[in-house]
Amino acid sequence: MHRDFFIDARKQLIINLKQKGIVSETVLNAMLKVPREQFVPKVLSKRAYEDISLPIDKQQTISQPFTVARMTSLLEVKEGDKILEIGTGSGYQAAILTELGAEVYTIERHFELHNQARILLSTLYPQHKIYSRYGDGTIGWSEHAPYAGIIVTAGAPEIPQTLLNQLDIGGKLIIPVGDEKRQTMHCVVRQDESSFLDYPLDDYTFVPLIGKVGWKA
Ligand code: SAH
Repeated sequence: MHRDFFIDARKQLIINLKQKGIVSETVLNAMLKVPREQFVPKVLSKRAYEDISLPIDKQQTISQPFTVARMTSLLEVKEGDKILEIGTGSGYQAAILTELGAEVYTIERHFELHNQARILLSTLYPQHKIYSRYGDGTIGWSEHAPYAGIIVTAGAPEIPQTLLNQLDIGGKLIIPVGDEKRQTMHCVVRQDESSFLDYPLDDYTFVPLIGKVGWKA
């Protein structure tokens, strides 16, 4: 596949996302920079810029670009923010976060996905602060807390208190919550030590969040 094909397709995707209501210029710019074709299986690379989720290894998916754009917009990342992602998958969402200047912490429960994403991200962004970990993300990553933002890219049965506890004051948790079929995106903002404001937003379908405070395997 020719390099120009991907660049044109990527520009077209940005236009598509704008038409679907994504307004954040910083998010759109980050998405214009990340080569999504490198995060999908080779046989699907020519479909990398369609606004759809695509299968990756271990029966998981790389989220639809619109969903990535929407969740990233909700996070309102500022340069230097510490962001924790649960569900590294392909590493695409982590790449968007690093393009926005975040210090990225990302956790994946499948070793193979964790490892592939770690290698790809360190190749594309050798100088960036991206830290990946293999394990159950539902318990968070307390050593580096508090975080300005936590983004969960798998569907949860409930909002994990463990993750809320790792938010900075004013920090946000973006998480899809529901049953196995359908989830509502929640934006939870930490007001102070013990109070949180929970905003339920629009509906999505994610692969399940599996772990101690998630669905059982
Ligand atoms: N953000 C990813 C989306 C991957 S799909 C991307 O941009 O490609 C969600 C991922 O969450 C899957 O890879 C799945 O294995 C992972 N996952 C599910 N439960 C998890 C948990 N408890 N901890 C860490 N990762 C989890």
